Amino acid sequence: MKETRFRSVAEVIERLNPSYPVFMVFPEILKDRARTFLDGFPGTVLYAVKCNPDPHVLRALYQAGVRHFDTASLPEIAKVSELFADAHCYFNHPVKSRGALEAAWEIYGLGHYVVDHIDELNKLHEVVGTDITVEVRIATPKGAAVYNLSSKFGAAPDAAVELLQEASRRGSRTAIAFHVGSQCPDPEAYRVAMKEAADIARRADVPIEYLDIGGGYPAEYGDPVPPIGAFFSVIRVARDELKLGMPLYAEPGRALVADGCSVLAQVQLRKGRDLYINDGIYGCLAEIQLGPLKPPVRALRRRDGVCVPVTGEEKSYRIFGPTCDSLDVFKVEFELPDGIAEGDWIEFRRMGAYSIGMQTSFNGFYTDTVVLIDGHQDSL
Ligand SMILES: *Cc1c(COP(=O)(O)O)cnc(C)c1O
Repeated sequence: MKETRFRSVAEVIERLNPSYPVFMVFPEILKDRARTFLDGFPGTVLYAVKCNPDPHVLRALYQAGVRHFDTASLPEIAKVSELFADAHCYFNHPVKSRGALEAAWEIYGLGHYVVDHIDELNKLHEVVGTDITVEVRIATPKGAAVYNLSSKFGAAPDAAVELLQEASRRGSRTAIAFHVGSQCPDPEAYRVAMKEAADIARRADVPIEYLDIGGGYPAEYGDPVPPIGAFFSVIRVARDELKLGMPLYAEPGRALVADGCSVLAQVQLRKGRDLYINDGIYGCLAEIQLGPLKPPVRALRRRDGVCVPVTGEEKSYRIFGPTCDSLDVFKVEFELPDGIAEGDWIEFRRMGAYSIGMQTSFNGFYTDTVVLIDGHQDSL
């Protein structure tokens, strides 16, 4: 991949005049967010690679000091291990193939694995042996998070106690993990889940190497969310109140990367208040369709070779993606200036999370242009 650097979004438009979608990475913003987390979180920070596996993004986080990575598949483990010789990967998917386990252990030497069921623990011990840390993933109550991840994974309390005791009895080190759900706007969700984990640890009565309190920390799209510091305070207080003696780990994805990337898409046709653009629900903008998240947008134009904002009264537009599928339209409408026309660009901002990692090549549309932009997003 050729690395192309630009000073601003305007320069991307002026130099490339792109009729293809462009994924824009702002390394300085990513480093800022990573440092905020590394400085504020009272424990070890793992970046959840699935959120955005682009190597430019991984490199920015690494440069800011992130050394631990939550990886869920062999390709993620391979990518991180090959990019950074001193990175630590954790195999934090509760369901793993035997082949992936074997390679994770034999080739990459991973020492940490998540389970939430006795059959997975048996599989893990059969394939890699017991000289590992077994993290037992526990279910958490459904809270205010936009995505509830405990509907798919997580052991109930009794099963979690048994898993911890069994793993420990067989000679593995043990840890507890949970995920309160993605885009969780409520810091209290962490306190509730930490209490649950503390109860399970007490009942299991085995040494707990660490408590991994997962991801879920929100990014600000439209609706205001508490600052990240509010989450750190609640987590610190809960740790002290619950007298948790073990170290804490966190696995942020969204909160580290959402603000640090934009998707630049071009309007190919306007029909009244309907806009047809070159990225959509099968591309980097997939998450707009999945949840109620609505990223901020701005409209830009290239006039005589110079990038300018599109002006006019704000109106609501329905936006269609590029594929021939009629599902390829956003559920939410976007407010854009009245003057927007064919050839203009829409910058979808705060699209660092669950974007380039989720795109498909359906119907021949795929974003493979990634550019780096120095400085901050507002400099036009
Ligand atoms: C997806 C995921 C994360 C990251 O979640 P965010 O909501 O993006 O912070 C962390 N841990 C696990 C196990 C995950 O599956």
